[in-house]
Amino acid sequence: MAQNIPYKIYLNENELPKQWYNLRADMKNKPAPLLNPGTGKPMKAEELEPVFCSELVKQELDNETRFFDIPEEIYNFYKMYRPSPLVRAYFLEKKLGTPAKIYYKFEGNNTSGSHKLNSAIAQAYYAKKQGLKGVTTETGAGQWGTALSMACSFFGLDCKVFMVKVSYEQKPFRREVMRTYGASVTPSPSTETEVGRKILEAHPGTTGSLGCAISEAVEVAVKSEGYRYVLGSVLNQVLLHQSVIGLETKAALDKYGIKPDMIIGCAGGGSNLGGLIAPFMGEKLRGEADYRIIAVEPASCPSFTRGVYAYDFCDTGMVCPLAKMYTLGSDFIPSANHAGGLRYHGMSSILSQLYDDKLMEAVSVKQTDVFEAAELFARVEGILPAPESSHAIRVAIDEALKCKETGEEKTIVFGLTGTGYFDMVAYEKFHDKEMSDYIPTDDELAAFRARLPKIG
Ligand SMILES: *Cc1c(COP(=O)(O)O)cnc(C)c1O
Repeated sequence: MAQNIPYKIYLNENELPKQWYNLRADMKNKPAPLLNPGTGKPMKAEELEPVFCSELVKQELDNETRFFDIPEEIYNFYKMYRPSPLVRAYFLEKKLGTPAKIYYKFEGNNTSGSHKLNSAIAQAYYAKKQGLKGVTTETGAGQWGTALSMACSFFGLDCKVFMVKVSYEQKPFRREVMRTYGASVTPSPSTETEVGRKILEAHPGTTGSLGCAISEAVEVAVKSEGYRYVLGSVLNQVLLHQSVIGLETKAALDKYGIKPDMIIGCAGGGSNLGGLIAPFMGEKLRGEADYRIIAVEPASCPSFTRGVYAYDFCDTGMVCPLAKMYTLGSDFIPSANHAGGLRYHGMSSILSQLYDDKLMEAVSVKQTDVFEAAELFARVEGILPAPESSHAIRVAIDEALKCKETGEEKTIVFGLTGTGYFDMVAYEKFHDKEMSDYIPTDDELAAFRARLPKIG
């Protein structure tokens, strides 16, 4: 049956999933609840609603409902760029000389260039439905800000983006894409917020961090009438929306009777990986099938492989609820020469619980190895991958090379989350041999860990 597998497996428009799948419904050990930093008690919906849209709060707290209908407006927007292709990497296989069969799910086919649009459009829709004027958010490298500005412009919402200062300066083109879609973009830390001014006072000349930009965006949302804060990763609701990636992947594989042996994805806050693996992990949790599931993270920001599973702040300013997750500590900032994204200090609570339950694995990779894989991939498969996505490419290649040694014909599926056109400064450093691998020492990590809040 599996002989005539096309290069690209496209689903029909009417095969686009009509519901998102909530993996939490099938987890025996549920992800730990968000805690109120003041009381130490689980956050209630009323406490989250000043910050987040009401419908999204419901999704965030719902560990039981297995499927959520995708509202028609979101479904119609998805149709502009979904279903996304599942590609058989025949050329990569040939180049590696491996008996492994490699597939990648490509999420870079939209202007924002990544999977983030899948959740951005959902979050903008619920904000609009609630009658809000606009939303605030942070963005690091800029993909989330870009996706959100597209989504807000579609629904006529105002969009205020706090962009990590170093990226604001180094990635002017991303900033202009956001402004093209009508968003306002402020470098963070800024003097526009109390928390920004405080951080600038304590660390003059800082180039900013995601955790710091989150604090600023939350402050503005809470203080501005008709605004809420939205986040592009980490949260349960984001993983729910991203399940569309995994559901499509599974439908495409099922069409050709293909059963993957391993599923690989890069992990920053965990949203693409959580979405890609959702239906497969669901089968694993229900005892219907087994898969190796591998999260790939940068060696310079190793939340899973060298972090601790503990309650921590989601942001630097400590204004957000506490989340139990694999974390490096909320004031961890990866070395300035780290170019590959995936720089958040923590990890999705869902994935953290699954990892702690040993239902998935994690590996960390060095950035020069990542760019080597990215370049090889671009040359044989044609797509110029985002540095984030290239973490998954690296490990897919490594696993395929192991198959070459053992002669095993394993089936590997990985998530190609986006394209890297705005990351050419990082590619340039790689080509000019100016890229180095900074891996934090145990002592450095221990210093950040010592500042974790003392809970439980
Ligand atoms: C944001 C981003 C990631 C990492 O975010 P997750 O929430 O871990 O998925 C990976 N790849 C690309 C292209 C991104 O833009």
